[in-house]
Amino acid sequence: MLVLITALYVAVRPWLIDTVGIPALVLFVLATGAVGSIVIAWWQARNRRYICPACTHVFPVSVRRNLASQNWFGRLHTHCPSCDKQSWCDIAPDEN
Ligand SMILES: [Zn+2]
Repeated sequence: MLVLITALYVAVRPWLIDTVGIPALVLFVLATGAVGSIVIAWWQARNRRYICPACTHVFPVSVRRNLASQNWFGRLHTHCPSCDKQSWCDIAPDEN
């Protein structure tokens, strides 16, 4: 999959640079990255619950907090709404 994307990128890049120019291309890549991370944060906010290691409270996280917090292999460094401790919260297992 990654090879395919790379091949496509290498094949399409000269054409893209010719048609849209480098600044527009850089802007496009940055915009795509920003939109991508917002979509991922939105998806995580909708589907994920985090569990507080201090009090085992399970809570959802808003899109904004998801973007603002450090995310490390699925663990989120955030405030627990129950005990108000800042800690690394793991993803809670699905209830359904
Ligand atoms: Zn807590």
